[in-house]
Amino acid sequence: MLGQMMSDPLTITSIMQYAEQVFADTEIVSVSADNPRHRYTFGEAFLRARKVANLLSGLGLQEGDRVATLAWNDYRHFELYYGISCSGHVCHTINPRLFPEQISYIVNHAEDQWIFTDVAFVPLLEQLQEQLETVKGFVVLTSPAAMPATTLKNVHCYEALLADQPADYQWPALDENSASSLCYTSGTTGHPKGVLYSHRSTVLHCLATGQRDVIGLAAGDTVMPVVPMFHVNAWGVVYSAAAAGARLVFPGPKMGDGATLAELINDEGVNLALGVPTVWLALANHLRESGGSVPSLKRVVVGGAACPEALMRAMDQLGVYMHVGWGMTEMSPLGTLNTLLPWMEELPDEEKMAYRLKAGRLIYGVQMRVVNDQGEELPWDGKTSGQLQVRGPWVCSGYYRMAESDAHLPDGWFDTGDVATIDSHGYMQITDRTKDVIKSGGEWISSIDIENAAMGHADVLEAAVIGVPHPKWTERPLLLVVKRPGAEPKKEDILDFLKGKIANWWIPEDCVFVEFIPHTATGKVSKKDLRDQFKSYSY
Ligand code: AMP
Repeated sequence: MLGQMMSDPLTITSIMQYAEQVFADTEIVSVSADNPRHRYTFGEAFLRARKVANLLSGLGLQEGDRVATLAWNDYRHFELYYGISCSGHVCHTINPRLFPEQISYIVNHAEDQWIFTDVAFVPLLEQLQEQLETVKGFVVLTSPAAMPATTLKNVHCYEALLADQPADYQWPALDENSASSLCYTSGTTGHPKGVLYSHRSTVLHCLATGQRDVIGLAAGDTVMPVVPMFHVNAWGVVYSAAAAGARLVFPGPKMGDGATLAELINDEGVNLALGVPTVWLALANHLRESGGSVPSLKRVVVGGAACPEALMRAMDQLGVYMHVGWGMTEMSPLGTLNTLLPWMEELPDEEKMAYRLKAGRLIYGVQMRVVNDQGEELPWDGKTSGQLQVRGPWVCSGYYRMAESDAHLPDGWFDTGDVATIDSHGYMQITDRTKDVIKSGGEWISSIDIENAAMGHADVLEAAVIGVPHPKWTERPLLLVVKRPGAEPKKEDILDFLKGKIANWWIPEDCVFVEFIPHTATGKVSKKDLRDQFKSYSY
């Protein structure tokens, strides 16, 4: 027998319409390239989202067409998110920190039709435009007064275009399973892979992460997403803040700068902020050096990489409670978040800290398991580690325009490439990684690409790259080299040799010569053994 409840579709449009009705006066504050402190309200943002929708139909876009953004966190990016997705198009947020070749690859793979870009990325697009096969034109996110001179073809000024658009627009009734947004991840080997979110997955993620033991947003909060909007929809806060009516503060282009963040937090009374550890390291260092404080800031959600204990303790001293979260682009992104159970609060300091540093408790809606190499499920005993797999309504069921075999989906579970333990209270802890990538300051580095580049050096017999802890970037690559017999290269020569072959910020700070590199039974380099061998190495 079927239930008799209404089956209204779960769409991002419903979040927008709710916020417009109930929280029209709630403020959105932004730092943007052409305005150090822009202010408007949800009401004004969604009015402009209608103008965006009219603009897109004027550009001749069809339902499902991909529209790209190349932008920092600010109000224009926010209104594009809603204007693009709610008019039936797909908002493809591009990470400007990717290599230029990766950006042209993903624009072509996504078949983007138009690119909305911050002024800062105009030079990058000028360099790439001839390779962008499907792009019909560019819209620069600025006012006519700040429009740069550019060689981009078919280029327009966003504010000039919006000024000509009518403010009324009938939002279409969308299927909740239709695609809403697209984000490519380079946290895997090979080309970046596209994760295509739906309206339904986005709404369910928004509802689940809004719970008090998860991000727990409320109308009295002032929330600052320092996690970029090109990294999985700023961990969904772009939607959950609207659903909760929380005041939003967007830090614009200066997201990694401790002084700017402290000033913004204090000026605007931010009480909750989200971002990767590197950002909070920058804030904590700035406050330590300047003797400053951030009294309004009560909570920080830290994720994307493990949170160092020293950072959590430094933030404790500042009166800021850090919640570790874990997730992936493929998971919209949240899977776990760390809030303690009441009895854990009573534990001695060391034991409590050990719980707080874990990736946290599974969020209702996602299922999680750890398995061994045979795919057998392992116990939740906090000791036995295995490959971490997940499933759920906001976990991807395949990559955009890729074969299912590329999607890491054994038995319908998504294989995260992380290795973890789960304890009997459901707290997960990442212990290792099977994917051969390194996360530095929240961005991925491919070990394989560095190894291939290093192997091109005449004196290198074999090269391997592992991630090692770093005080600023949390992780950095370390190059391990077996010299060719008879050769006596200097490590500076080998590191210099990498210049121009890989991105400069990928080049390891150090190269260590080793007698041999361990291999697994199948002949692959055993990164696990190497990581064990160098576990006390630190930059
Ligand atoms: P991304 O898709 O770029 O968001 O990266 C997701 C990956 O970042 C995960 O699969 C983990 O390898 C890593 N990661 C995310 N959160 C954490 C965390 N709290 N602790 C350790 N690693 C994390």
